[in-house]
Amino acid sequence: MNAQQQEKTAIDSVPTGLFVGGRWTSTDRTMPVEDPSTGEVLTEVADASPDEALAALDAAVAAQGSWAATAPRERSEILTRAYQLMIEETDRLALIMTLEMGKPLAESRGEVTYAAEFFRWFAEEAVRNDGGYMTAPAGDSRFLVSKEPVGPCLLITPWNFPLAMGTRKIGPALAAGCASVIKPASHTPLSMLALAEILQRAGVPDGVVNVVTTSRSNDVMTPLILDPRSLKLSFTGSTPVGKSLLELAAKTVMRTSMELGGNAPLLVFEDVDLDVAVEGTVQAKMRNIGQACTAANRIFVQRSVADEFADRLTRRLAELPQGRGVDEGVVVGPLINSSAVDKVQELVRDAADRGAQVRLGGDPSEGPGHFYPATVLTGVPPEAELCSTEIFGPVAAITTFDTEEEAVASANDTPFGLVSYLFTSDLARGFRVSHALDAGMVGLNRGVVSNPAAPFGGVKESGVGREGGFVGIDEFLETKYISVGL
Ligand code: NAP
Repeated sequence: MNAQQQEKTAIDSVPTGLFVGGRWTSTDRTMPVEDPSTGEVLTEVADASPDEALAALDAAVAAQGSWAATAPRERSEILTRAYQLMIEETDRLALIMTLEMGKPLAESRGEVTYAAEFFRWFAEEAVRNDGGYMTAPAGDSRFLVSKEPVGPCLLITPWNFPLAMGTRKIGPALAAGCASVIKPASHTPLSMLALAEILQRAGVPDGVVNVVTTSRSNDVMTPLILDPRSLKLSFTGSTPVGKSLLELAAKTVMRTSMELGGNAPLLVFEDVDLDVAVEGTVQAKMRNIGQACTAANRIFVQRSVADEFADRLTRRLAELPQGRGVDEGVVVGPLINSSAVDKVQELVRDAADRGAQVRLGGDPSEGPGHFYPATVLTGVPPEAELCSTEIFGPVAAITTFDTEEEAVASANDTPFGLVSYLFTSDLARGFRVSHALDAGMVGLNRGVVSNPAAPFGGVKESGVGREGGFVGIDEFLETKYISVGL
């Protein structure tokens, strides 16, 4: 099979209907899914109406009771099978992901593994749902504390990590005993549809996982969020949408988890091994072509090493091959759409107009496809738009600092607090600064923090709650206390 046939076979392997109550159903309307590296339509998928989405919630509500009553060991084994199937089908899933989202194949394969690992982790957690039993301080009764599934959940995911942002929610929901309705991003529905089919094969009972694809997210999800049968909303996406969903969720005082936007600072201290700092910066900046909530958005380098760091980073980024993600060796794929390219270009122009120097890149690449080249800016002033906006593109924006206090103050000068990075060879400074940074996560001499076994999440406007790690399942459990009279 040649490359084109392989791509077609991968796309044709994905069911394109809604997945409701264990059945694939078609809709009157469909919506196109595009390859951002060519702008061509890959296929059409179901475009749900509000009523069709309500049918998915009906199915989740109907399945909730029996799933909650299913033995934790059985839930665990289903998750393990889903993990194994994903790993076995890594190449197919990675190709689907690259075609609809653009990231290089190597990164897509990495995401499939990362996504599958959430199932493995939560398969292990499903059988460790503990509680407590204690004597009341007055000695007249006992406190029995147990954790029970929240109930039917709504899970909304973004386009930048089309599988992992789904399994990071579906894994703990299944482990905890919750049925759910999942709405993937309209740019990247195929990965989630392929995953739904895998979950079905792994033995997830009908109605426990339902997938609704739609181009009318607001109209379709608002009635579901307001429906009193939905007991939990777990959202990953931008802060403005997260805020509007929190307002809606307040109407029924629904449990929420919010994984929102970031504005990650990356600090490079003069005592560091610059090779380590440059490689860490490449990872923190270029993962997902810069389109990650964890992407290093503002890079602060201590003055004495700033020129050398900028030179090395520029040389390193200049050598990264750009092209279609399906072509082996490519590191810089396309951005998700043309407005993403326009936004990145406006941010770069604004920074340059305010005095930043463009050391590399700086102009959109020729089409077809939505490409923007790796770009390095130095001398970026704090008032540049990109210091307060997620760039979401392959643009490294460098500023200098003189003292540790100044670096920490600049890093924290943002309403966001998802992740911060720092590079230093001084152990005490590493811990001191890690604790001083306002962030839910810190990368200390590392450009990647994501790990299914670690608690992922932000502070301030970057969100509420944690996904992954030992606490990830708690987002889908309610604590029940029974007061026992003796
Ligand atoms: P987005 O525009 O907020 O969309 C996220 C999801 O919400 C999509 O499925 C979207 O559907 C849906 N949506 C949008 N408006 C909605 C509404 N009114 N009601 C219900 N659903 C709605 O974000 P994005 O552009 O897909 O993703 C990028 C953002 O996600 C960035 O800000 C990034 O930092 C953040 N992110 C955060 C994390 C984290 O863990 N903290 C991880 C990844 C990404 P449509 O596709 O139909 O618009």
